[in-house]
Amino acid sequence: MSFIIAIDGPAGSGKTTTAKRVAEILKVIYLDTGAMYRAVGLYVLSKIGETLDEDKIKPLLNEIEIRFENVSGERRILLNGRDISDEIRNETISQMASKVSTLKSVRDFLVDEQRRISKNTSLVAEGRDIGTVVFPHAQLKFYMDCTIDERAKRRSLEYSEKKIQTDISDIKRQIAERDERDKSRAHAPLKMADDAILIDTTSMSKEEQIQFVVAKAQKLKDCI
Ligand code: C5P
Repeated sequence: MSFIIAIDGPAGSGKTTTAKRVAEILKVIYLDTGAMYRAVGLYVLSKIGETLDEDKIKPLLNEIEIRFENVSGERRILLNGRDISDEIRNETISQMASKVSTLKSVRDFLVDEQRRISKNTSLVAEGRDIGTVVFPHAQLKFYMDCTIDERAKRRSLEYSEKKIQTDISDIKRQIAERDERDKSRAHAPLKMADDAILIDTTSMSKEEQIQFVVAKAQKLKDCI
């Protein structure tokens, strides 16, 4: 029987590292829904710039095809056949993704895609509304949280590993802006599902976060 593990939480809380590794350990699909919002953000930006006009954005969605592919053991995202995995990992696209994600038409489009990908397969999905909206019947739900200072520190480290120059106070401000938009939007705001398990990752290592989720998942697998 297939199962779904939902991991939600704000930027920098540890979702990606955990979800990716847990999926690897359990040998199931890893679904990065944030990358899908980033893909839409990138496409909209390239077509009409930063204007957030739903009447203009809605028809663009018909032109978008998003696919995931495994390349040398890595999950890559393709937008209309083009690998955009690296291009979407910057602050401009983070903000653009967060902006387009407030639009109902964008959310409906991507939620349909996410459910289609999940048909008859087990997966670990990460995002902001996985346990609340996309897969409310997921067998296991987690909400990862962490202080904003620690999240900004982690993001800054990621950027410096990629040799991208940043200022930690800018990162902190941008994360706070995105949190605020994601939590206050009208459609599918970021919030913890009632039946989710809260993981405060502030003082946890990556390995501890992964092991915590894997232990719960193993129990689930033993039961189904
Ligand atoms: O997770 P990531 O930082 O890549 O997500 C980028 C943005 O996409 C988030 O800030 C959020 O606005 C949006 N998003 C969303 N719902 C999801 C995943 C991401 O609204 N399930």
